[in-house]
Amino acid sequence: MTPLPPQAQIREVGLRDGLQSIPTVLPTARKCEWIAAAHAAGQREIEVGSFVPARLLPQLADTAEVLAYAKTLPGLVSSVLVPNLKGAERALECDADLMLLPLSASHAHSLANLRKTPDEVVAEMGRMRAARDASGKKTLIEGGVGTAFGCTLQGEVKVAEVLRLMMALLDAGADRVSLADTVGYAHPRAVAELFEQAMKLAGDRFCCGHFHDTRGLALANVYAALQVGVTRFDASLAGIGGCPHAPGASGNAATEDLAFMLAACGVNTGIDLTALLALRANVAAWLQGEPTHGALWRAGLPSTFQRTPA
Ligand code: ZN
Repeated sequence: MTPLPPQAQIREVGLRDGLQSIPTVLPTARKCEWIAAAHAAGQREIEVGSFVPARLLPQLADTAEVLAYAKTLPGLVSSVLVPNLKGAERALECDADLMLLPLSASHAHSLANLRKTPDEVVAEMGRMRAARDASGKKTLIEGGVGTAFGCTLQGEVKVAEVLRLMMALLDAGADRVSLADTVGYAHPRAVAELFEQAMKLAGDRFCCGHFHDTRGLALANVYAALQVGVTRFDASLAGIGGCPHAPGASGNAATEDLAFMLAACGVNTGIDLTALLALRANVAAWLQGEPTHGALWRAGLPSTFQRTPA
């Protein structure tokens, strides 16, 4: 059996990927409460929102305020999603630690989601990099290639095209890149094959896997990626979310289930699962009426679970 890495990072994306897909608008104070509790539970990377026009995503209209709060917490890496240069300029003004530019490898999804072809998004990455360099800010730039395993609108997305676009983002100025199964088409074998090639090509600039649990395989996909050496994963507390342009896509891997799987396998995430489950209960209550997912919260931790592995 391939040894697993000794540690891995979970980036919480519930406040962005999760909240943008549900109608409930969580008040700013609640978002800050969520971030504070996640930080207290040991989470160290949180995507706090997205710099998109408020008329498109009123749920994330307070991203600048939420980011300002997140930046007060010691050791927390606060990231934001930016769809274009305009969003990137706001992320730079607000001193985000990281900004993520999504690119859809599916041409059809790219036009529906960003109204640009994938190669036009690569060109936008070049402009973002120039803006970052001119600003003198330290904000890292991540290029996230989505629909990497297929797409509800287009169907098949070729591996060669995913890898070409991933490398094009790096060539255009991204500091690092990640791959996302936006619509839940991935399975462990496909993940192992694609992520192995991605790691070979991008080396330590390949940083993250983002899996939706649409067909129940998000954790299996994380495990497959871990086995080829990937050590950072996006997840959404209570598995909230979906994709407004991918009908039927459910939320990300549930943070609490992922943190449990990793801890149980001896992969350290620094997360206190008891504190995380308490936060999950609060978030589910704040989002009453919205669908939540995950399994650990129903049964709790097994009696044999070692909370602090040696
Ligand atoms: Zn997503």
